[in-house]
Amino acid sequence: MMAPVIVIGAGLAGWTTVREFRKLDTTTPVLLITADSGDFYAKPSLSNALAQGKLPAQLVSTPADKMAAAQNVTLLPHTRVSAIDTAAKTITTPAGTQAYRQLVLATGAQPIRVAVEGDAADQVLSVNSLQDFAAFHAHLQTATGQPDRHVLIMGAGLIGCEFANDLAQAGYRVSVVDPGARALAALLPEAASGALQQALEALGVRFYWGTTVRTVHAASGANGLAVTLASGEELAAHGVLSAIGLRADTALAQAAGLQVDRAIVVNTQLQTSAAGVYALGDNAQYASAASALSAHGSALPYVMPIMAAARALAANLAGTPTALAFALMPVSVKTPALPLVVAPPQPGTPGQWDAPAPGIWQWIDDAGLQRGFVLAGAQTAQRMAQSKLVTL
Ligand SMILES: Cc1cc2nc3c(=O)[nH]c(=O)nc-3n(C[C@H](O)[C@H](O)[C@H](O)COP(=O)(O)OP(=O)(O)OC[C@H]3O[C@@H](n4cnc5c(N)ncnc54)[C@H](O)[C@@H]3O)c2cc1C
Repeated sequence: MMAPVIVIGAGLAGWTTVREFRKLDTTTPVLLITADSGDFYAKPSLSNALAQGKLPAQLVSTPADKMAAAQNVTLLPHTRVSAIDTAAKTITTPAGTQAYRQLVLATGAQPIRVAVEGDAADQVLSVNSLQDFAAFHAHLQTATGQPDRHVLIMGAGLIGCEFANDLAQAGYRVSVVDPGARALAALLPEAASGALQQALEALGVRFYWGTTVRTVHAASGANGLAVTLASGEELAAHGVLSAIGLRADTALAQAAGLQVDRAIVVNTQLQTSAAGVYALGDNAQYASAASALSAHGSALPYVMPIMAAARALAANLAGTPTALAFALMPVSVKTPALPLVVAPPQPGTPGQWDAPAPGIWQWIDDAGLQRGFVLAGAQTAQRMAQSKLVTL
């Protein structure tokens, strides 16, 4: 029997690859192996679900078995791949060893953990999966009915700011602690950071800049955690959410001898350093990347790059050599207090931010070419028009 195409991981990268592959090849067996349930959900919906009152189960857009049937794939859920043998072309799971024709690594990324001390340090939560969100949601429920429900967020990046907005809108008191000096510093010009901070402060969010969480201890009272900041301040909180960033999940690839840098290194055809083994999504480091969204090596941990990569990868799996080329991929920041669209320039592009109108910032390089933009508030409607102005 023909060995299947094996896809490891059932996030957006895994499922989108399967879907794109099935458009080109309806007969080759495909085996999808995933450590989670395999239910299909849009991960971006995790950071704007609370204000909408959505329960974790309501975020599943298609249950795993329905996805598997629709895509004609064999699904092995709740199964972790523990090893890859690229010479023998096999993978290992607790169920045994399985040969592959081609292998796709779509294993995503893991939240970065910083050392926090204290007897309740293990109660610091991160949200990078539906399961994580369910745990966070369940924890928040234990404060239902209390008058002052305070959630402290570590990190004022994209995910931290989105959760700050969502929690504040859902009725929580929110504090954001960040060692830097401004919101979304990696993506926004200073004035836009300031506008976002003001909009979130108007919802009651309080920012603590230039400091970090040092200890988290159990405490009595409604807010059951006592948090100490490096600056010496002490805050009582019901929950602490860490949103300080993600690190590509490369352990499996590294153990298999694949080339790994900040993430799994792939060429323009999404192939890793081993023949027949491919990677995409939050665990991949692409050969080219189009913007400062790639600040971490050439990883692009966003949805649109996954869509483009999955299309190119599916063609390669189906036997048509296809190079991945990224278009401009603006990201919408889900902060309804001040919606933003960001398409920052490639890191190191010389130039400066120009502000031609309120709510519009354009990165103009030394030759006078526009290389990126940021739009705020009502100007987010200019997304298409601004995209057309950008030279990649
Ligand atoms: C809260 C939040 C909000 C976001 N909002 C946006 C947004 O608005 N716009 C945007 O563009 N991007 C957003 N992103 C980023 C985007 O969601 C991610 O880039 C994308 O979902 C990553 O998909 P993935 O399939 O690469 O990884 P994942 O979704 O992490 O999937 C990895 C899969 O691999 C499985 N797995 C891992 N190791 C193994 C193993 N050894 N064996 C078997 N299975 C394994 C896991 O179980 C999982 O199924 C957001 C991210 C977060 C966390």
